Amino acid sequence: MTIGVAVLGSTGSIGRSTLQVLARQRDRFRVVAITGHSNKDLLAQQAAEWKPAFVGLVNGMGKGEEGKGKGTACLVDAATHPDVKIVVNGIVGAAGLDATLAALRAGKRVALANKETLVMAGELVTEAARQGGGEIVPVDSEHSAVLQCVAGRRPTELARLILTASGGPFRTWGPERVSRATVAEALKHPTWTMGKKITVDSATLVNKALEVIEAHFLFDVDYEHVEVVIHPQSVIHGFAEFVDGSVLAQVGFPTMELPILYALTYPERVPDTGVRRFDPVAAGTLTFEAVQLERFPAYNAGREAARMGGTAPAMFNAANEVVVQLFLDEQIPFGRISEVLERVVAQGHPGDATSLDDVMAADAEARRLAKEFACS
Ligand code: NAD
Ligand code: MG
Repeated sequence: MTIGVAVLGSTGSIGRSTLQVLARQRDRFRVVAITGHSNKDLLAQQAAEWKPAFVGLVNGMGKGEEGKGKGTACLVDAATHPDVKIVVNGIVGAAGLDATLAALRAGKRVALANKETLVMAGELVTEAARQGGGEIVPVDSEHSAVLQCVAGRRPTELARLILTASGGPFRTWGPERVSRATVAEALKHPTWTMGKKITVDSATLVNKALEVIEAHFLFDVDYEHVEVVIHPQSVIHGFAEFVDGSVLAQVGFPTMELPILYALTYPERVPDTGVRRFDPVAAGTLTFEAVQLERFPAYNAGREAARMGGTAPAMFNAANEVVVQLFLDEQIPFGRISEVLERVVAQGHPGDATSLDDVMAADAEARRLAKEFACS
């Protein structure tokens, strides 16, 4: 019997990599559901190839067909489909939250790439998993690295996490030049090919702030014990330090296919020959640098939101979604992203994040503030 998989966001970077992995693992897994947002043609192509029981299109029917899509409810339908055991959530942004919660409540494994979900509602998501018997297994490469290092250990043996960051395209640029960086420059990531939003997040290092929050909720580690180091080669993906002082790291050439496969098969490993085998000589010299906070003010603002807790991370995430889109639409300069995030963190009014209503209200308020600050 094969295991049923739903791929949410199958037309995106994570979604396409997931289907590549699944194409090599057809004796273990079958695709039960796929969803896309606006890339109708690619979705149709994937549907023809995989013949899933369920295909959902959130938006973006052809001209004259608007409004005939299945809407956002299709994400929850796909995530809770009775034949699905594992939901790969490759949706970008807050739009992935409902499906994550529904899948966990229905007792499914969520292979989570959609980190925004954990950032905005970490408490609610972990609670949904506890209640429903579902489990969250990270797809994010740094968190997969940590999971691979800590798998089989007791939580009390873990002392500290160190997540690596490539530093993005502006690692060596001066602040003046960075503030005027173009969209094309921000989208030129040195080591990874990904969707546009996460690529911009990697240039501001907001991605790493989101990942610190993600790690906190996944591994139940205090923020003071989640550190970040710049590692431009992206060969070591994460370190776990144990209480005896011993440190384990997970190593490999950058590819999302390995963490995706591990999230599908965890805690087991299965044979796979799809990705380039590691070669230390080819990897060459590995270097590490401290994060210079003055160079990455948006990262600093994200860590501050993490320390504040409650709905502050949800507000930071929502504001970031707004300003990244404005930047991609060439409505604001790159430097405005961090300015707005700093203001939202300093001037927003976060509260408790005990209900979905709390979180969604904070999300809406932060989107409003971000638009106001971006244009003033
Ligand atoms: P992407 O833009 O390439 O793909 C996003 C997918 O989500 C697409 O299928 C799109 O159709 C769908 N989508 C977009 N808006 C939607 C909405 N409102 N409702 C429903 N579906 C919607 O992005 P990506 O790079 O694949 O990233 C997806 C998620 O994975 C993000 O949270 C990102 O941070 C995370 N992630 C990505 C990578 C990577 O290598 N790409 C690595 C780690 C984590
Ligand atoms: Mg990552």
